[in-house]
Amino acid sequence: MSRRRRIYEGKAKVLYEGPEPGTLIQYFKDDATAFNNQKKGTIAGKGVLNNRISEYLMTKLMEMGVPTHFVRRLNMREQLIQEVEIVPIEVVVRNVAAGSFSKRFGVPEGTPLPRSIIEYYYKSDELDDPMIAEEHITAFGWAMPQDLDDMISLSLRINDYLSGLFLGIGLRLIDFKLEYGRVYDENGDVRIILADEISPDSCRLWDIKTNEKYDKDRFRHDLGKVQEAYQEVARRLGLLHENVTEIAEPKAAS
Ligand code: UDP
Repeated sequence: MSRRRRIYEGKAKVLYEGPEPGTLIQYFKDDATAFNNQKKGTIAGKGVLNNRISEYLMTKLMEMGVPTHFVRRLNMREQLIQEVEIVPIEVVVRNVAAGSFSKRFGVPEGTPLPRSIIEYYYKSDELDDPMIAEEHITAFGWAMPQDLDDMISLSLRINDYLSGLFLGIGLRLIDFKLEYGRVYDENGDVRIILADEISPDSCRLWDIKTNEKYDKDRFRHDLGKVQEAYQEVARRLGLLHENVTEIAEPKAAS
């Protein structure tokens, strides 16, 4: 079997050279990390579920005009994507206080925010992804002011759309993280498009009625039923009718 060239390996995904120039293959692993890599583990079947969930959400977003890097899903764990120049910023949109926001500002988890809040973090493992302001982004040249405007308006549209979509399946979109990339057209014009993934790894999703968590916080805080939570999100999105047994890969015999 011919070995594909590995371009990059992250904590939850691997990027391989794609079949054509300007494309990459994004492979979803079962590995999970939290607290800047201090906690490591695996969630059986997570890669398969996130591949499907992210495909579904990116496709829906594209249908409503949000440009994304997603091209098509190739198999259980891989999707074909457009190669982009990653903007080294994590854009976090928050609707309800949770996680680092609750800690930083002393706002109890679950407090609804008066309006959606956008935060930015600089992608740097060495620096532990510090929170940054718009000033840092433009002053350090991580993005041009126009790119930043595009990222803000896209993020707010994505928030509105996804909040409604998840509400429809009984989940509250508490917060989520997005990453963007730059692509250049034939004239050399730059365009900002959504990259990375959208999945329970990068979103907080709470059940509307019970406030039960259906996201990576189950792994972060050892709440149990981690795999089941990811499966439940996929099931509610209507993605689990086929190949259920394949998604829940058999655990090794004990
Ligand atoms: N998030 C992420 N990757 C990160 C940091 C955060 O996907 O490296 C997501 C996280 O899942 C949550 C949102 O961004 O949905 C806000 O995370 P927060 O800042 O509260 O950080 P955490 O509590 O995860 O450290």
